[in-house]
Amino acid sequence: MIDGKRIRLSVPAKINWSLEVVGKRADGYHQLRSLMQTVSLYDQVELAIADSDSCQCSPPVDCALVGNLAWRAWDLLRNTYSLDNHLSINIVKDIPAGGGLGGGSADAAAVLLGVNKLFALELSVAELATLGFTLGADIPFFLYGGLAEIRGAGEDVLPCSQAQEYPLLIAIPPASLSTAMVFAAFDRLSPGAVVLDFSGLLKALQSGDIAMISAQMANMLEPAAMSLCPEIAVAKEILSSHGLFPLMSGSGSCVFALSDGDCERENAALAALQKQGIAGRKAHSLTHGIVDETVIK
Ligand code: ATP
Repeated sequence: MIDGKRIRLSVPAKINWSLEVVGKRADGYHQLRSLMQTVSLYDQVELAIADSDSCQCSPPVDCALVGNLAWRAWDLLRNTYSLDNHLSINIVKDIPAGGGLGGGSADAAAVLLGVNKLFALELSVAELATLGFTLGADIPFFLYGGLAEIRGAGEDVLPCSQAQEYPLLIAIPPASLSTAMVFAAFDRLSPGAVVLDFSGLLKALQSGDIAMISAQMANMLEPAAMSLCPEIAVAKEILSSHGLFPLMSGSGSCVFALSDGDCERENAALAALQKQGIAGRKAHSLTHGIVDETVIK
């Protein structure tokens, strides 16, 4: 254990370039196949060995301490490895909660990586991923970051090489969505499978083939999420009418759009979103995951 030390992590959000539901397991989990990527909206997570345990988010999130995934990640490691120290967790949140951008899972992954380092646990990323998956399906992905293929319920992460970062706009409707409710709506609607050339999409992302990327981006949860949150369709319409290529991320409600980086076009789209009460942010895809920024003695 590194006494008196603190660690600060820069924690990106994610988008899903594709999301297919390929089945449902006996335990009720939906089996997915997805191409996921970290993007440049960040929470900042600071961990410090302290006299008592605490976990604070600024601005606060809509759940009790024991529901906070960052706290639960600490609690899991502490119990699993019999750590008898205390930890303070401070999170400055910029990733919108309940938006399908994975903020809670990202914070939890940061705690797993940070505690592993602070307490010199020397666990591998694969070991952390196995632990993390017991708390949240997206946590294994965030331990790797960059571009990755996701299978199973999120436990199988296959990192994919990629050099290019793509400019994006992210539309953030005022309503957040519960992932469980979106999957329940998906089960009720039982939409047909989307036709998606998964390896074509991956190759296009790796080679910069914008036409192929935009043709193959698809998310099977969109109709279900739109039935709960009509602003998703409004955001998509605005973004595509400005020549951008939009898709809902994860289980929504956020929509990202692939941009050509034209600043005027992006500003016009952001203004049009704002007119409809939908916030928007410029961002870009990332080839890396969580970054451990500082260890301050
Ligand atoms: P999912 O991972 O289920 O797709 P999401 O990306 O849509 O989720 P999150 O930002 O992870 O959305 O937040 C979903 C809910 O998780 C929040 O409404 C909140 O109640 C709870 N939550 C727990 N811990 C956190 C956290 N550290 N940051 C944000 N939300 C959290």
